[in-house]
Amino acid sequence: MMQNPLKPNERVFKKRRMALVEELESKGIRDKRVLAAFENVARHKFVDSALAHRAYEDTALPIEMGQTISQPFTVAKQTELMEVSEGDKVLEIGTGSGYQAAILCELGAKVYSVERHQMLYNRSREILEELGYRPNLKCGDGTMGWSAYAPYMSIVVTAGAPVIPESLKSQLDTCGRLVVPVGDEEKQAMYRITRHADGHFEEEKFSIFKFVPLIGKQGWNL
Ligand code: SAM
Repeated sequence: MMQNPLKPNERVFKKRRMALVEELESKGIRDKRVLAAFENVARHKFVDSALAHRAYEDTALPIEMGQTISQPFTVAKQTELMEVSEGDKVLEIGTGSGYQAAILCELGAKVYSVERHQMLYNRSREILEELGYRPNLKCGDGTMGWSAYAPYMSIVVTAGAPVIPESLKSQLDTCGRLVVPVGDEEKQAMYRITRHADGHFEEEKFSIFKFVPLIGKQGWNL
């Protein structure tokens, strides 16, 4: 007898997830653990049911409060750059739908995530709980990080910042990595900042993305 048989719709979604994973691989995502996480997380649960049929297109989709669930390639690229190992304490700024938090949970990280909109915080909390993910969530200004649980092995910012937030750099563990898109309101370059054992910060710059703005004390003042 089959264990945990998938309902017909779930079977279709699973097939679409596998196709999405192939697409991500063809676009240059190489980390097998990251790809496996994408195969496991049900992205259609993190969008409005009217958009569920588009959940496995490699595109950003609207969520409440004028925000977006990021494009899968963007989530994959940021996650790959974080180099998450099982048991790492990681911080996400911009919980949004909760999807990237679920991906980070799948990688076995101890996840902390901050969202500024109460409504998105409530909704993502509900969905993540329903799917059995247990990240630590907070509603507030993520540009200040979450100092109570610092330091973190990696921090990911999922909204576009005008500058690299100093608070986030200061909450990195030794050898920790901060992945953050920085630029103007139109486009941002992906940066990875690594805190080395001697205290210096190494800066690497990757390709261009387009994010909703990071709004807060060390973000945009909109
Ligand atoms: N990681 C999200 C996901 O998987 O759905 C992506 C969400 S969206 C691209 C970026 C999110 O950052 C939005 O939900 C927005 O409200 C949030 N945000 C913007 N500025 C913030 C801040 N200062 N602190 C926390 N969240 C912020």
